[in-house]
Amino acid sequence: MIELIDYLIDASLVLILVLFVVQTIRLWRRDRQARFLADSVVNQEKMAAMGNLLAGIAHELKTPLGAVACSLDTDRRAIDKMSVVLADLENLPLDAAAVEKLAQVRKALNIVDSSKPVLEQALERTGQLVRQLRLAGRGDHEDPVPVDVNGLVKGALILLTHELKQGLEVDLQLGEIPPVSGWPGPLGQVFLNLIQNAGQAMDGTGKITVTSGVDTGQVIVTVSDTGPGLPAGSQEKLFLPGWTTKAEDKGTGLGLFISKRIVERHEGQIKADNGDSGGAVFVVTLPAAAEGTPPTDR
Ligand code: ADP
Repeated sequence: MIELIDYLIDASLVLILVLFVVQTIRLWRRDRQARFLADSVVNQEKMAAMGNLLAGIAHELKTPLGAVACSLDTDRRAIDKMSVVLADLENLPLDAAAVEKLAQVRKALNIVDSSKPVLEQALERTGQLVRQLRLAGRGDHEDPVPVDVNGLVKGALILLTHELKQGLEVDLQLGEIPPVSGWPGPLGQVFLNLIQNAGQAMDGTGKITVTSGVDTGQVIVTVSDTGPGLPAGSQEKLFLPGWTTKAEDKGTGLGLFISKRIVERHEGQIKADNGDSGGAVFVVTLPAAAEGTPPTDR
Protein backbone atom coordinates (compact mmCIF):
# COMPACT_ATOMS: atom_id res chain seq x y z
CA MET A 1 0.00 0.00 0.00
CA ILE A 2 2.82 2.38 1.00
CA GLU A 3 4.59 1.54 -2.26
CA LEU A 4 1.45 2.42 -4.20
CA ILE A 5 1.21 5.79 -2.40
CA ASP A 6 4.92 6.49 -3.11
CA TYR A 7 4.37 5.59 -6.74
CA LEU A 8 1.33 7.90 -6.98
CA ILE A 9 3.29 10.76 -5.40
CA ASP A 10 6.19 10.25 -7.83
CA ALA A 11 3.82 10.06 -10.80
CA SER A 12 2.03 13.25 -9.66
CA LEU A 13 5.36 15.06 -9.30
CA VAL A 14 6.41 14.00 -12.79
CA LEU A 15 3.02 15.08 -14.15
CA ILE A 16 3.28 18.47 -12.41
CA LEU A 17 6.80 18.89 -13.77
CA VAL A 18 5.66 18.03 -17.31
CA LEU A 19 2.69 20.41 -17.04
CA PHE A 20 5.02 23.12 -15.73
CA VAL A 21 7.44 22.68 -18.64
CA VAL A 22 4.60 22.62 -21.22
CA GLN A 23 3.04 25.73 -19.72
CA THR A 24 6.42 27.54 -19.62
CA ILE A 25 7.03 26.70 -23.28
CA ARG A 26 3.52 27.89 -24.16
CA LEU A 27 4.03 31.17 -22.32
CA TRP A 28 7.46 31.66 -23.87
CA ARG A 29 5.98 31.07 -27.34
CA ARG A 30 3.10 33.44 -26.72
CA ASP A 31 5.52 36.07 -25.46
CA ARG A 32 7.72 35.61 -28.53
CA GLN A 33 4.71 35.89 -30.86
CA ALA A 34 3.53 39.02 -29.04
CA ARG A 35 6.99 40.57 -29.35
CA PHE A 36 7.21 39.58 -33.01
CA LEU A 37 3.81 41.16 -33.69
CA ALA A 38 4.79 44.30 -31.78
CA ASP A 39 8.05 44.51 -33.76
CA SER A 40 6.17 44.00 -37.05
CA VAL A 41 3.71 46.75 -36.18
CA VAL A 42 6.58 49.10 -35.26
CA ASN A 43 8.42 48.14 -38.47
CA GLN A 44 5.28 48.65 -40.54
CA GLU A 45 4.75 52.03 -38.93
CA LYS A 46 8.37 52.95 -39.60
CA MET A 47 8.08 51.80 -43.24
CA ALA A 48 4.82 53.72 -43.65
CA ALA A 49 6.43 56.85 -42.17
CA MET A 50 9.44 56.43 -44.47
CA GLY A 51 7.10 55.88 -47.46
CA ASN A 52 5.17 59.05 -46.60
CA LEU A 53 8.42 60.97 -46.23
CA LEU A 54 9.69 59.81 -49.64
CA ALA A 55 6.35 60.48 -51.32
CA GLY A 56 6.29 63.92 -49.63
CA ILE A 57 9.78 64.81 -50.84
CA ALA A 58 8.90 63.62 -54.36
CA HIS A 59 5.74 65.72 -54.30
CA GLU A 60 7.56 68.82 -53.05
CA LEU A 61 10.28 68.44 -55.68
CA LYS A 62 7.85 67.88 -58.53
CA THR A 63 6.44 71.43 -58.47
CA PRO A 64 9.74 73.38 -58.55
CA LEU A 65 11.08 70.91 -61.07
CA GLY A 66 8.05 71.47 -63.31
CA ALA A 67 8.55 75.23 -62.95
CA VAL A 68 12.22 74.94 -63.97
CA ALA A 69 11.31 72.78 -66.99
CA CYS A 70 8.64 75.27 -68.07
CA SER A 71 10.95 78.27 -67.66
CA LEU A 72 13.67 76.49 -69.57
CA ASP A 73 11.25 75.88 -72.42
CA THR A 74 10.17 79.53 -72.45
CA ASP A 75 13.81 80.72 -72.32
CA ARG A 76 14.65 78.37 -75.16
CA ARG A 77 11.95 79.81 -77.40
CA ALA A 78 13.01 83.34 -76.52
CA ILE A 79 16.65 82.52 -77.33
CA ASP A 80 15.64 80.99 -80.68
CA LYS A 81 13.73 84.18 -81.54
CA MET A 82 16.66 86.37 -80.47
CA SER A 83 18.96 84.29 -82.63
CA VAL A 84 16.76 84.82 -85.71
CA VAL A 85 16.57 88.60 -85.09
CA LEU A 86 20.31 88.72 -84.51
CA ALA A 87 20.93 86.92 -87.81
CA ASP A 88 18.77 89.55 -89.57
CA LEU A 89 20.74 92.34 -87.91
CA GLU A 90 24.04 90.73 -88.83
CA ASN A 91 22.98 90.89 -92.49
CA LEU A 92 22.34 94.66 -92.38
CA PRO A 93 24.95 97.15 -93.59
CA LEU A 94 26.20 98.40 -90.20
CA ASP A 95 29.15 100.45 -89.04
CA ALA A 96 32.13 98.76 -87.37
CA ALA A 97 31.01 99.69 -83.83
CA ALA A 98 27.57 98.10 -84.37
CA VAL A 99 29.13 94.98 -85.92
CA GLU A 100 31.41 94.69 -82.88
CA LYS A 101 28.42 95.02 -80.50
CA LEU A 102 26.47 92.39 -82.43
CA ALA A 103 29.46 90.03 -82.27
CA GLN A 104 29.41 90.40 -78.48
CA VAL A 105 25.69 89.61 -78.37
CA ARG A 106 26.24 86.57 -80.60
CA LYS A 107 29.01 85.33 -78.28
CA ALA A 108 26.79 85.70 -75.23
CA LEU A 109 23.97 83.90 -77.01
CA ASN A 110 26.28 81.02 -77.94
CA ILE A 111 27.34 80.66 -74.28
CA VAL A 112 23.69 80.46 -73.21
CA ASP A 113 23.06 77.95 -75.98
CA SER A 114 25.95 75.70 -74.91
CA SER A 115 24.39 75.13 -71.48
CA LYS A 116 21.24 73.66 -73.07
CA PRO A 117 22.35 69.98 -73.06
CA VAL A 118 23.66 70.26 -69.47
CA LEU A 119 20.37 71.72 -68.25
CA GLU A 120 18.37 69.11 -70.16
CA GLN A 121 20.44 66.25 -68.70
CA ALA A 122 20.22 67.69 -65.20
CA LEU A 123 16.44 68.01 -65.52
CA GLU A 124 16.14 64.50 -66.91
CA ARG A 125 18.23 63.04 -64.05
CA THR A 126 16.32 64.97 -61.40
CA GLY A 127 13.04 63.87 -62.98
CA GLN A 128 14.20 60.25 -62.82
CA LEU A 129 15.16 60.64 -59.16
CA VAL A 130 11.78 62.15 -58.31
CA ARG A 131 10.05 59.27 -60.13
CA GLN A 132 12.11 56.75 -58.13
CA LEU A 133 11.36 58.53 -54.86
CA ARG A 134 7.64 58.53 -55.63
CA LEU A 135 7.68 54.82 -56.45
CA ALA A 136 9.83 53.98 -53.41
CA GLY A 137 7.32 55.89 -51.30
CA ARG A 138 4.62 53.53 -52.55
CA GLY A 139 6.89 50.52 -51.96
CA ASP A 140 6.87 50.05 -55.72
CA HIS A 141 9.50 50.12 -58.45
CA GLU A 142 9.65 50.59 -62.20
CA ASP A 143 9.85 47.58 -64.48
CA PRO A 144 13.26 47.11 -66.09
CA VAL A 145 13.62 48.45 -69.62
CA PRO A 146 16.32 47.96 -72.29
CA VAL A 147 18.99 50.57 -71.60
CA ASP A 148 21.60 52.09 -73.92
CA VAL A 149 24.72 52.12 -71.73
CA ASN A 150 26.72 54.28 -74.16
CA GLY A 151 23.94 56.87 -73.90
CA LEU A 152 24.24 56.81 -70.10
CA VAL A 153 28.02 57.39 -70.31
CA LYS A 154 27.49 60.34 -72.67
CA GLY A 155 24.75 61.72 -70.40
CA ALA A 156 27.07 61.48 -67.37
CA LEU A 157 29.79 63.37 -69.25
CA ILE A 158 27.35 66.13 -70.19
CA LEU A 159 26.33 66.48 -66.53
CA LEU A 160 29.98 66.70 -65.51
CA THR A 161 30.88 69.25 -68.23
CA HIS A 162 31.71 72.01 -65.76
CA GLU A 163 33.63 69.75 -63.36
CA LEU A 164 35.77 68.19 -66.06
CA LYS A 165 36.48 71.12 -68.33
CA GLN A 166 39.47 72.54 -66.45
CA GLY A 167 42.48 70.81 -67.99
CA LEU A 168 41.07 67.28 -68.12
CA GLU A 169 41.03 65.28 -71.32
CA VAL A 170 38.26 62.75 -71.90
CA ASP A 171 38.87 59.89 -74.30
CA LEU A 172 35.63 58.11 -75.27
CA GLN A 173 36.09 54.74 -76.93
CA LEU A 174 32.53 53.48 -77.07
CA GLY A 175 31.97 50.32 -79.07
CA GLU A 176 28.80 48.87 -80.56
CA ILE A 177 27.05 47.25 -77.63
CA PRO A 178 23.64 45.66 -77.11
CA PRO A 179 21.25 47.16 -74.56
CA VAL A 180 21.20 45.89 -70.99
CA SER A 181 17.99 45.28 -69.09
CA GLY A 182 17.55 47.60 -66.13
CA TRP A 183 16.84 51.03 -64.74
CA PRO A 184 18.48 53.93 -66.61
CA GLY A 185 18.33 56.39 -63.71
CA PRO A 186 20.32 54.36 -61.17
CA LEU A 187 22.61 52.88 -63.82
CA GLY A 188 23.44 56.38 -65.08
CA GLN A 189 24.36 57.24 -61.49
CA VAL A 190 27.03 54.50 -61.54
CA PHE A 191 28.87 56.01 -64.52
CA LEU A 192 28.42 59.50 -63.12
CA ASN A 193 30.06 58.39 -59.84
CA LEU A 194 32.96 56.60 -61.55
CA ILE A 195 33.75 59.45 -63.96
CA GLN A 196 33.37 62.06 -61.22
CA ASN A 197 35.73 60.10 -58.94
CA ALA A 198 38.27 59.81 -61.77
CA GLY A 199 38.10 63.58 -62.32
CA GLN A 200 38.46 64.34 -58.62
CA ALA A 201 41.39 61.93 -58.26
CA MET A 202 43.35 63.89 -60.85
CA ASP A 203 42.95 67.29 -59.33
CA GLY A 204 42.72 69.28 -62.54
CA THR A 205 45.07 67.68 -65.08
CA GLY A 206 45.12 64.25 -66.67
CA LYS A 207 43.06 61.96 -68.85
CA ILE A 208 39.90 59.93 -68.28
CA THR A 209 39.32 57.06 -70.68
CA VAL A 210 35.93 55.40 -70.94
CA THR A 211 35.58 52.30 -73.09
CA SER A 212 32.64 50.04 -73.79
CA GLY A 213 32.42 46.70 -75.53
CA VAL A 214 30.72 43.35 -75.45
CA ASP A 215 32.13 39.92 -74.68
CA THR A 216 30.12 36.69 -74.59
CA GLY A 217 26.84 38.35 -73.74
CA GLN A 218 28.34 40.77 -71.22
CA VAL A 219 28.51 44.51 -71.73
CA ILE A 220 31.80 45.77 -70.30
CA VAL A 221 32.48 49.40 -69.47
CA THR A 222 35.83 50.58 -68.13
CA VAL A 223 36.57 53.96 -66.59
CA SER A 224 40.27 54.60 -66.13
CA ASP A 225 42.29 57.66 -65.24
CA THR A 226 45.87 58.87 -65.07
CA GLY A 227 45.59 59.89 -61.41
CA PRO A 228 47.56 58.52 -58.45
CA GLY A 229 45.65 55.21 -58.43
CA LEU A 230 43.71 53.60 -55.59
CA PRO A 231 45.01 54.37 -52.09
CA ALA A 232 47.31 51.61 -50.78
CA GLY A 233 45.40 48.83 -49.00
CA SER A 234 42.02 50.25 -50.05
CA GLN A 235 40.81 47.29 -52.09
CA GLU A 236 38.69 45.76 -49.28
CA LYS A 237 37.34 49.08 -48.03
CA LEU A 238 36.60 50.73 -51.36
CA PHE A 239 32.98 49.59 -51.64
CA LEU A 240 32.13 49.87 -47.94
CA PRO A 241 29.64 52.60 -46.98
CA GLY A 242 31.28 55.69 -45.54
CA TRP A 243 34.88 54.94 -46.56
CA THR A 244 36.40 58.06 -48.09
CA THR A 245 39.80 59.71 -48.34
CA LYS A 246 38.33 63.02 -49.49
CA ALA A 247 37.86 66.17 -47.44
CA GLU A 248 34.71 66.31 -45.33
CA ASP A 249 32.95 68.73 -47.66
CA LYS A 250 33.84 66.65 -50.75
CA GLY A 251 33.46 62.95 -49.90
CA THR A 252 30.72 60.86 -48.32
CA GLY A 253 32.15 57.43 -49.09
CA LEU A 254 28.79 56.39 -50.51
CA GLY A 255 29.41 56.65 -54.26
CA LEU A 256 31.09 53.28 -54.76
CA PHE A 257 28.91 51.53 -52.17
CA ILE A 258 25.74 52.69 -53.95
CA SER A 259 27.25 51.97 -57.38
CA LYS A 260 28.05 48.38 -56.37
CA ARG A 261 24.51 47.84 -55.12
CA ILE A 262 23.04 49.23 -58.33
CA VAL A 263 25.29 47.10 -60.53
CA GLU A 264 24.49 43.97 -58.49
CA ARG A 265 20.79 44.76 -58.80
CA HIS A 266 21.42 44.50 -62.55
CA GLU A 267 23.10 41.14 -61.94
CA GLY A 268 26.43 42.65 -62.89
CA GLN A 269 29.78 43.19 -61.26
CA ILE A 270 32.01 46.14 -60.52
CA LYS A 271 35.73 45.76 -59.94
CA ALA A 272 38.52 48.20 -59.19
CA ASP A 273 42.25 47.96 -59.67
CA ASN A 274 45.25 50.03 -60.64
CA GLY A 275 46.22 50.20 -64.31
CA ASP A 276 49.61 49.12 -65.65
CA SER A 277 50.77 52.71 -65.90
CA GLY A 278 49.23 53.80 -62.58
CA GLY A 279 45.83 55.42 -62.21
CA ALA A 280 42.65 53.63 -61.18
CA VAL A 281 40.65 51.35 -63.46
CA PHE A 282 37.03 50.52 -62.72
CA VAL A 283 35.37 47.75 -64.72
CA VAL A 284 31.59 47.36 -64.81
CA THR A 285 30.19 44.17 -66.32
CA LEU A 286 26.46 43.88 -67.06
CA PRO A 287 24.55 41.08 -68.76
CA ALA A 288 23.22 42.13 -72.17
CA ALA A 289 19.42 42.17 -72.54
CA ALA A 290 17.77 39.39 -74.49
CA GLU A 291 17.98 39.92 -78.24
CA GLY A 292 15.29 41.91 -80.02
CA THR A 293 14.85 44.49 -77.28
CA PRO A 294 15.64 47.97 -78.60
CA PRO A 295 17.52 50.31 -76.26
CA THR A 296 15.86 53.28 -74.63
CA ASP A 297 17.53 56.57 -73.82
CA ARG A 298 14.99 57.20 -71.04
P1 ADP B 1 33.67 59.53 -52.13
O1 ADP B 1 33.87 59.92 -53.56
O2 ADP B 1 32.59 60.32 -51.45
O3 ADP B 1 34.94 59.51 -51.33
P2 ADP B 1 33.34 56.86 -53.12
O4 ADP B 1 32.66 55.69 -52.51
O5 ADP B 1 32.90 57.26 -54.48
O6 ADP B 1 33.12 58.04 -52.09
O7 ADP B 1 34.90 56.61 -53.14
C1 ADP B 1 35.54 56.10 -52.01
C2 ADP B 1 37.03 56.33 -52.09
O8 ADP B 1 37.59 55.51 -53.13
C3 ADP B 1 37.48 57.74 -52.43
O9 ADP B 1 37.47 58.59 -51.31
C4 ADP B 1 38.88 57.48 -52.97
O10 ADP B 1 39.80 57.32 -51.92
C5 ADP B 1 38.74 56.12 -53.65
N1 ADP B 1 38.57 56.27 -55.11
C6 ADP B 1 37.46 56.18 -55.83
N2 ADP B 1 37.69 56.37 -57.14
C7 ADP B 1 39.01 56.60 -57.26
C8 ADP B 1 39.89 56.88 -58.36
N3 ADP B 1 39.46 56.96 -59.62
N4 ADP B 1 41.22 57.04 -58.08
C9 ADP B 1 41.69 56.96 -56.83
N5 ADP B 1 40.91 56.69 -55.74
C10 ADP B 1 39.60 56.52 -55.95
